[in-house]
Amino acid sequence: MKYYLTTPIYYVNAAPHIGHTYTTIVADLIRRFKTMQGFEAVLTTGTDEHGQKVERSARAAGKTPEEFTTIIAAEFRQQWEKLGFKIDHFQRTTSPQHHKVVQGLFKRCLDNGYIYKSAYSGQYCFFDELYVSDAKPGDPCPDCGRPTETVTEENLFFKLSAFTEKLVELHEQNPDFLQPETRRNEVLSFLRQGLNDLSISRTTIKWGIPVPGYAPHVFYVWFDALTTYMSAVDGLDLWPADLHLIGKEIVRFHAIYWPAFLMAAGLPLPKRIYAHGWLLFENDKMSKSRGNIVRATPISDVVGIDALRYFLLREIVFGQDGSFSYDALVGRYNSDLANGLGNLASRTLTMIRQYRDGAIPAPAGAPAIAEQARETIASVIAAFERFEFSKALETLWALLSAVDKYIVEQAPWKLIKKPDAAATLDATLYTAAEVVRIATALLAPVIPDSTAKIWAQLGMSEPLESVRIDRLAWGQLAGGQKIGEVAAVFPRIDAGVAIPKMQELEIAETARQAALLGKAPSPPQDLIAIDDFVKVDMRVGVVLDAQAVKGADKLLHMKVDIGEAKPRSIVAGIAEAYKPEDLVGRKVVIVANLQPRKLRGIPSEGMIVAASVEGGKPVLAGFHEDIPVGARLK
Ligand SMILES: [Zn+2]
Repeated sequence: MKYYLTTPIYYVNAAPHIGHTYTTIVADLIRRFKTMQGFEAVLTTGTDEHGQKVERSARAAGKTPEEFTTIIAAEFRQQWEKLGFKIDHFQRTTSPQHHKVVQGLFKRCLDNGYIYKSAYSGQYCFFDELYVSDAKPGDPCPDCGRPTETVTEENLFFKLSAFTEKLVELHEQNPDFLQPETRRNEVLSFLRQGLNDLSISRTTIKWGIPVPGYAPHVFYVWFDALTTYMSAVDGLDLWPADLHLIGKEIVRFHAIYWPAFLMAAGLPLPKRIYAHGWLLFENDKMSKSRGNIVRATPISDVVGIDALRYFLLREIVFGQDGSFSYDALVGRYNSDLANGLGNLASRTLTMIRQYRDGAIPAPAGAPAIAEQARETIASVIAAFERFEFSKALETLWALLSAVDKYIVEQAPWKLIKKPDAAATLDATLYTAAEVVRIATALLAPVIPDSTAKIWAQLGMSEPLESVRIDRLAWGQLAGGQKIGEVAAVFPRIDAGVAIPKMQELEIAETARQAALLGKAPSPPQDLIAIDDFVKVDMRVGVVLDAQAVKGADKLLHMKVDIGEAKPRSIVAGIAEAYKPEDLVGRKVVIVANLQPRKLRGIPSEGMIVAASVEGGKPVLAGFHEDIPVGARLK
């Protein structure tokens, strides 16, 4: 039996951070757990590499989109390798195989009558050269804050509206299709408002998959990105996926668009979608502007990936938002891993070494502990099945505490001194060792590196990775088995040393990733140095000519003399505030050393300085006293 699962296909406009890592850790855990249950588990992840933002980032980094996406895709792949994730397919949306599958899916939808051409109107930021989805006319661009403009172009549309009823039925009749329940309810209430058709192509974008038969259209975002789940395993008989793991911000696309595309194409739907919450930093949203994004490798380099894996899975109720902090990470590690599992394992094995010459005593055991172990195995497996990782770990740790208490009560260090207590000592040591074995096997999907070490110390010959669920049952630890060398698997972490070290590495990693993306690392705060300010060359100019721009109701095209041989051609979004004839002869402020760009095909060789408040019209900067054209503002 196969079990095919996917992570989201990560967008290459950012380098991998702890948010991406969190989803991928869970996917890796589920893959390992399903393997343990006897499934042939297959995990796909990958990178979403098309679109204007990527095109623009590549240009900013001085690279072609091909070069840029290759570097960032490699960065994701290397991070996952370094963190030890078991990934079967790493799919790039730029791969020829992916193009073929996207085009194939489109053709099926087209043949079935779900595609048509129509005019698309959307909000566009001319400064960033980007469509701003979900924006209303006049809304500011989320990237630069400038007002967006309404533009119209011919697009291909997908008849999403035809699937409203079918999607409501899907979600109503299959409560497990989308979980957690809160997400399902959100989607159902969204569906009940009715769906609009969806624009799936653009003609203004170059960096995308060509729509077959519709040049120069390329696929826009979702038709391209979502299809990765299929293209990664094309021809492998793995579709439909058993699970799409996603973050809650992309629920609508996965639970509405994706099943609709597949229904339109007559293809089977994924069996399950599970959306997790956001990872906050000390209860604040992580964001570039706050400068509080955390990356996994600096943490893994200092305390090990298992510390991070355990922390995220134990601390956060999967599906809800959770918070990361270095203090909480170290606290959890020390209490649960160093003092908990680590201490129990090394204490048990050390006693077997000392009292029984390193041989596991014959199977026997405390019936109460054996019974609790049986119950724990069943409830941990059930909790893993429901993705209740935190609860699974809590249940398992209750068993570890019970054994700790049992060891203290039995006091092997006293039993060893009583000649008639040999059988009791054997039973005590066996009970403790058998719980360590069971806990280690159950935890292998959660903390694979550390459990492999404990497994070796127990003297187990079968590789931990090949252990299946039926080997968990009580009493399968063989008497007489020689244990391996005992060493601390979870040495205590000194927060005062480890946290500054992680923070220091984090700064270096941020800079390394920024260089990779071709971006200067963001300064710690918003203040700039005088050197930064003088880089901006602002000049007094006089408007010689101004014209409306055809098809763009907010733009004006001006000729502005700034004291150079030739006037500058400048396009600005001020048409709603100024009539062209009122501008001629007016003195204005021009940013003269801005990289030239084209707006609506017209070259813009500078920027006119204006003040504006949200929702208000721009007001041009000017002078009360006379000042010669070409004078520099300082
Ligand atoms: Zn913008």
